Amino acid sequence: MNKIEHIGIAVNDIKVSGSLYEKLLNTPVYKVEEVASEGVKTAFLQCGLNKIELLEASDDNSPIAKFIAKKGEGIHHIAFEVDDIVFEMKRLKDEGFVLLSDEPKLGADNKLVCFVHPKSAGGVLVELCQEASPRPSPKEREL
Ligand code: ZN
Repeated sequence: MNKIEHIGIAVNDIKVSGSLYEKLLNTPVYKVEEVASEGVKTAFLQCGLNKIELLEASDDNSPIAKFIAKKGEGIHHIAFEVDDIVFEMKRLKDEGFVLLSDEPKLGADNKLVCFVHPKSAGGVLVELCQEASPRPSPKEREL
């Protein structure tokens, strides 16, 4: 694993928390993105080599809604950057870690992601993420 790519923080309102973290880190939110499949709205701030990802539930069944109902706002997950997510998923599975999906999924920020169950990772929800290949432009597809 290369580095901590980002830390995910569950919040009630990404606008309110976005301005809080802008003040805290003295840097602007540079991207806001909804991941409908996961029921979350995300906002990203850069902090040196790493990022902070704020997560707001976009519906009541969202894992973020459940997390906040149980624990309140706060650190939700730690994401590690990997070069080959399929390889790392197999490696972790062989080591006995429980993965939340069998295949990598497309997450926020153009990343392929997979989560490791906190029960198998010392109480921490761990995310693996790999930069997804850029989508070919229509022009490139013709070639
Ligand atoms: Zn994340």
